[in-house]
Amino acid sequence: MTVISNHLPTPALQALDAAHHLHPFTNDAELARKGARIIARANGVMLTDTDGVEMLDGMAGLWCVNIGYGREELAEAAARQMRELPYYNTFFQTSHAPVIALSARLAGLAPEGMTKVFYAGSGSEANDTNIRLARHYWAAKGKPQKQVIISRRNAYHGSTMGGASLGGMAAMHAQGGLPIAGITHIDQPHWYAEGGEMSPEAFGLERARQLEAKIAELGEGRVAAFIAEPVQGAGGVIIPPATYWPEIQRICDAHEILLIADEVICGFGRTGNWWGCDTFAIRPDIITIAKGLSSGYAPIGGSILRDEVAETIAAGGEFSHGYTYSGHPVAAAVALENLRILEEEKIVEQAGQVAAPYLARRWSELADHPLVGEARTLGLLAGLQMTPDKAARAGFAAGPGKVGMICRDFCFANHLVMRHVGDRMIVSPPLIITKGQIDLLIERAWRALDQTYAVIRDEGLLKVA
Ligand SMILES: *Cc1c(COP(=O)(O)O)cnc(C)c1O
Repeated sequence: MTVISNHLPTPALQALDAAHHLHPFTNDAELARKGARIIARANGVMLTDTDGVEMLDGMAGLWCVNIGYGREELAEAAARQMRELPYYNTFFQTSHAPVIALSARLAGLAPEGMTKVFYAGSGSEANDTNIRLARHYWAAKGKPQKQVIISRRNAYHGSTMGGASLGGMAAMHAQGGLPIAGITHIDQPHWYAEGGEMSPEAFGLERARQLEAKIAELGEGRVAAFIAEPVQGAGGVIIPPATYWPEIQRICDAHEILLIADEVICGFGRTGNWWGCDTFAIRPDIITIAKGLSSGYAPIGGSILRDEVAETIAAGGEFSHGYTYSGHPVAAAVALENLRILEEEKIVEQAGQVAAPYLARRWSELADHPLVGEARTLGLLAGLQMTPDKAARAGFAAGPGKVGMICRDFCFANHLVMRHVGDRMIVSPPLIITKGQIDLLIERAWRALDQTYAVIRDEGLLKVA
């Protein structure tokens, strides 16, 4: 068997990594100077690096390891499937048991009236599929002019040409000629940063009504779909005001456009229910899935379709689209086993009814820290905003991200993986996190905030922008 060279000392691994591996979303020259942290193994909510340091993974990898690390059953499912049928495609009028079983299981878990799945290898690919699906759907209904997809600034929908175009990340759009044609953006419902003097409720309505204004501007006859995450994840865990989603739903119902809920993070228990759509009473036409579908143990994504959408696509002749790995049997077998564990061990219910309320209580205590302007959670998503002036909800004079990066480094130093988006700190731990582990997370976060505060005060960074 090929031995992966993890017996090498950490500096040797770091040197090889720097020499031969270009990292995603990374300033590689800077990383090469520092050396990457090499993760060796993981169990439950804990990661261990090659120096033997154990860290609490507050991010569940990249929002995906919902059932936690180290589940033997998933390894077994993958090994069994690899022995029996490691690969076959689903293009040639063929299918296989793992993809059939997974589809049937997803049909049972999905919201009412959504019983068909189209598979991809990731969330980005699934959203590319959704662009094709939405446009082809309207063409099949005799409305080929309905092509434009409306999304939101600071949304994240993946990193392919289509996914990144749907997303509203300025740094991504600044490279490579994005967004592609036929995609337009409205503002996000981020009250803390953009709500000014308005109440969150009034602001939520105002931001939702931008969708109606955009539809009017483009003409309903040109709009295919609106896409949004129930809660923006990579944008900084932006939990919308309570008024936002009901108004978006009203607007989508009043106009003839598809509603695509990107549940790549929110799906499979993250918000305390199976779907973010349950939490916000959203009735989507298409749901994007990935991440928690396999708890990250195998790469797989997909689109769950409302029956009328699936029927229209099916009646429209051949849908000229698909991936070599659409419904990959090993990934499907792993996802199926992941769903079995989520269901049978009642992990979603436990997360929603026990872990989430406890995290909400403990996380809200962080709002008492002098550096914290807002600390909010929904399910097992949590975000906190650092500010030099709580009352004014002000940003730092040093510009967004400088203080966030300092805090993130202190989190690492305190053996906690907590991510920063600008000067917001965010977590999204495995759903199996216990109360004791939440206490540990809060204790480490508190210490990192104290250390950040001391450093920025001493360096004169506690200035209002
Ligand atoms: C991560 C993510 C994606 C992209 O998924 P990949 O598997 O990285 O391609 C899409 N949408 C949302 C909301 C995500 O968080």
